[in-house]
Amino acid sequence: MRSPSWTWDELLLACALVVRNGWRELRVGDPSVTELSDLLRALPLPDRTGLADSLPEYRSAGSVSRKTTDLASNHPGYPGRPTKGGKLDKLIIKEFLAREAAMLQAADAIETGISSGQLALIPEQPDEADEDGTTAAEGRLLARWAISRERNPALRKGKIAQVRKLGLPLRCAVCAFDFRSAYGTLGDGYIEVHHLLPLHISGPRETKLNDLALLCANCHRMCHRSHHGASWRTPGELRTEMERSRSRG
Ligand SMILES: [Zn+2]
Ligand SMILES: [Zn+2]
Repeated sequence: MRSPSWTWDELLLACALVVRNGWRELRVGDPSVTELSDLLRALPLPDRTGLADSLPEYRSAGSVSRKTTDLASNHPGYPGRPTKGGKLDKLIIKEFLAREAAMLQAADAIETGISSGQLALIPEQPDEADEDGTTAAEGRLLARWAISRERNPALRKGKIAQVRKLGLPLRCAVCAFDFRSAYGTLGDGYIEVHHLLPLHISGPRETKLNDLALLCANCHRMCHRSHHGASWRTPGELRTEMERSRSRG
């Protein structure tokens, strides 16, 4: 059996290592290659359960080192001939070149999630990847973590209570949709909560009620919808995007 192809999350971690090494490849025997190999073999990605035990070659130090060569040699400034590399390799390089700091933070957050054991405990979330399998720029595992964090019923209850205490209506922060006015008693008290900062920027800290915004189901979905190169919108960013599309007609 051959090792499955590299996913976005794995490439994100490998590319972070290459970036930190000044966009140079890393050799087998380099301690950071061994460390990354251990980390990759422990990632709770879909369909990978037990793979690390049955397949010694799976994300071995050798395969990690080869991947760092692919990534380093496909950088646009690389003086030599690039190795073949896949389509995703090129996309992740582009993403790191466009926003290096955020991508490095995402890699750190995944590492923290794995080493603390938190990520392994979170079950797969149905919407952590889009219908066509596209994942967020910060990766599928962080999307999983973020979504499960927002589904915490106590957090949602706390936020609703806070808004009610202030005498404010339960309304979508983007489009002002109000479930109660649209659906009557059926919609009473319904609203979703969305984090104002993505997990890889905020870091895995305790959520405060002021970190959350209230959104209708449509706007919430659109805030999480990912394309390569864009993911996780704040309510303000979603509003800007809507205005831009409206002015285009
Ligand atoms: Zn809305
Ligand atoms: Zn959200």
